[in-house]
Amino acid sequence: MHLTSYGAAGEVTGAKHLVESSGRKILLDCGMFQGRHEELHHHNAALPFDASTIDAVILSHGHLDHCGSLPMLVKHGFKGKIYATGATRDVAELIMRDCAHIQAQDAEYENRHLRRGQKSVVPLYINEDVDRVMPLFETMSYKECRKIFNDIEICFYNAGHILGSSLIHLTLKEEGRVIHLAYTGDLGQPGMPILRDPDQLPAADILISESTYGNRIHEGAPESVEKLINIVKEAIAQKGKIFVPAFALGRMQTLVYNLHKLTDEGYLPRIPIYVDSPLAADLTDVFSRHQECYDEETVKLFTSNNEDPFGFRNLHYVQSVEESKRLNNAPGPMIILATSGMMEAGRIIHHLINGVGDPNNTILIVGYMAEGTLGRAILEGAKRVRLYHRSLPVRARVKKINAFSAHADQTELLSFILGVPELKEVVLVHGEDLARRALASELNKKRPDLQIIIPHKGESQEF
Ligand SMILES: [Zn+2]
Repeated sequence: MHLTSYGAAGEVTGAKHLVESSGRKILLDCGMFQGRHEELHHHNAALPFDASTIDAVILSHGHLDHCGSLPMLVKHGFKGKIYATGATRDVAELIMRDCAHIQAQDAEYENRHLRRGQKSVVPLYINEDVDRVMPLFETMSYKECRKIFNDIEICFYNAGHILGSSLIHLTLKEEGRVIHLAYTGDLGQPGMPILRDPDQLPAADILISESTYGNRIHEGAPESVEKLINIVKEAIAQKGKIFVPAFALGRMQTLVYNLHKLTDEGYLPRIPIYVDSPLAADLTDVFSRHQECYDEETVKLFTSNNEDPFGFRNLHYVQSVEESKRLNNAPGPMIILATSGMMEAGRIIHHLINGVGDPNNTILIVGYMAEGTLGRAILEGAKRVRLYHRSLPVRARVKKINAFSAHADQTELLSFILGVPELKEVVLVHGEDLARRALASELNKKRPDLQIIIPHKGESQEF
């Protein structure tokens, strides 16, 4: 069996892991690279393999960095099936269509501002390309196994990361040998609201594990809730705005859920909260269609009290661009949650253009900011930022809370990985090198016999 990571090897985006076994090529995820705007196009424009030779895709979840290049794969000749949970299929569809829409908008903007001699920008894919991806989906339930080829069986388990997210377990038979290979996709934190905790994986010889927070331990929930309360109170005192960049899925719902709870329990005064993302509103609909993914507490909230955990009195979903623009002139205090999560695109950019220079405002970072993104630069204290060809000073306060993360931290990764029975080898992906090395060394302290592989992009491993 051969394994090649063509993305998410030494970085956290662009997850694409190719498994070659008994003459078949199975692609685990087909994600887009995210990062600096100009480099993005270049990175995502070409696929590192011949798409027509891939036999099947197994999709762990619907985040863009795991599903965003599927339309490219189909455009370049992929005709196989895409296995995913029903919730992941629905989430991925919205995410890919949103990406096509953003690309079309960006291309239009760039083409209006072309300098002499510059080539016009063409989107990598359009909505019609997403149309061609959708019929290829085959849905799977959690704990369901299916033989997809003679020598390959796949099983899905709950990853507890975002709605529909899965851990994948493959049984590969080659030349009389049986190999059990597992893949975490992205692993969630246990004890988070809404989603059920990650499942325990059955026995596996090899585990491909994410390692985003392989070198971090999240602060505890009580500390972060207190931090959130203080940040909101400060904003109220200064009549400032709190900008929260968040992916439309995952943190967005977790934060809304927490703000809802804190307001109801009287810890937070009622201040207006805007979810400025039509995508988040659509995804919230997907949430209500897939109650099979909820934990008991959320099911109870939905069914017994007939209450919607994602909607409450001071929460407003912003749909139109006009409505979004009106928020620019509206006085604070208010909380604005907007995409994109790493501040690379989307409506958060427009809010920052208007508010980043005001010292009464706060940029609240709750998610992972990949190297090279605007979010990372702001988090690391950049004094000026470039937003749509304008250089602006950063005067707003920058705060970070990482307890609402949709990713497991070092302790949780360790206990998950070490809990996989019969594990012999671990391939660490989806983490920067520092995180991967730190996690590897902790794993080896506890299990010196465990083989740990830290692959480079495009490097093949044989098992
Ligand atoms: Zn993810």
